Amino acid sequence: MSAAEAAPSRSRKPVEYEVTVDRVRMDTHDTATLFLDFGDRPPEYKAGQFLNIDPHQFPALGRLSAYLQEQKGRKEPQRSYSLASAPHERFVAITVKDEEFIPGLTRYPPLLSPFLVHGRLTGARLRVLGFMGPYVLPDDVDQRTDHIVHLVAGSGAVPNFAILKDALHRGLKPRHTFLFSNKTWGDVLYREELEALERQHPDRVRVVHTLTRETDESRYGPRVRKGRVHQALLEELIPDPGSCLVYACGPAITPWDRRKALETRTPATPRFIETTIGHLHALGIEDKRIKRETYG
Ligand SMILES: Cc1cc2nc3c(=O)[nH]c(=O)nc-3n(C[C@H](O)[C@H](O)[C@H](O)COP(=O)(O)OP(=O)(O)OC[C@H]3O[C@@H](n4cnc5c(N)ncnc54)[C@H](O)[C@@H]3O)c2cc1C
Repeated sequence: MSAAEAAPSRSRKPVEYEVTVDRVRMDTHDTATLFLDFGDRPPEYKAGQFLNIDPHQFPALGRLSAYLQEQKGRKEPQRSYSLASAPHERFVAITVKDEEFIPGLTRYPPLLSPFLVHGRLTGARLRVLGFMGPYVLPDDVDQRTDHIVHLVAGSGAVPNFAILKDALHRGLKPRHTFLFSNKTWGDVLYREELEALERQHPDRVRVVHTLTRETDESRYGPRVRKGRVHQALLEELIPDPGSCLVYACGPAITPWDRRKALETRTPATPRFIETTIGHLHALGIEDKRIKRETYG
């Protein structure tokens, strides 16, 4: 599906809001959800969109930001965060993963995500720019398909979780298959919420997990599979490759990977998005039926 096909019917220019962090919920050891209070200025957005946060607004990050800018030779840009909330929910929520720094492997320490996750921001005021992005359901989704496949890994689940909640709340017709890849059971975001949605809508929602680093995934029940998302699993879950719509979000080759690949003259290693989209193509799913969001 092209961006134009799926674009919101009415696109508004992003607006800067000053919001209060109502609370911060630690979801896993490295990921937290920030619930943002927009006060009496109700935000207008579509499920699946994102907002931007400018790291320069935080005095605590001033020195690190100045140092990174000197090292990189460019101004640190705003960071984008998909909305974990659906428009009918009281708070706008973002779910942020604390980026890793692995000496010798990652080039620079991450700037903003550790601060958002561990900065004890409950009660803090933030400036955010919102709302953007065409990773949303088309207005006429009921006419286009009766099956939406969510194909997500790690924090890539964020916008799809919002889309799923919104579609169910609005009583849209398509059923949903939510295929969620993680390293371990402890890394799975929104585990209980997804289970609850499946229980409330047994004929509309099917959640399947794949775990790449769990030694005995069978103890978590039949909906939990071992290893990466592979073609046979997609074949099993997508009986309708000609009519489903796929929303895929997760790690993809980054601009830094591409630069390194050029420098070292070795191709960049495909990540979740490249690999799974290759499988979808092999199943005969056309590009116009695949919508993707990457965080690079
Ligand atoms: C549309 C969109 C939606 C997103 N939604 C989410 C979300 O819901 N949740 C979430 O957690 N994240 C999301 N992201 C990612 C998010 O915007 C940030 O990229 C992420 O939080 C990391 O930011 P940081 O400041 O912590 O790290 P950064 O400072 O950006 O660093 C991240 C990595 O990039 C490397 N790097 C940075 N600059 C360079 C350089 N010049 N050369 C080489 N390597 C470099 C660093 O070494 C580090 O490994 C989204 C991104 C997009 C584009």
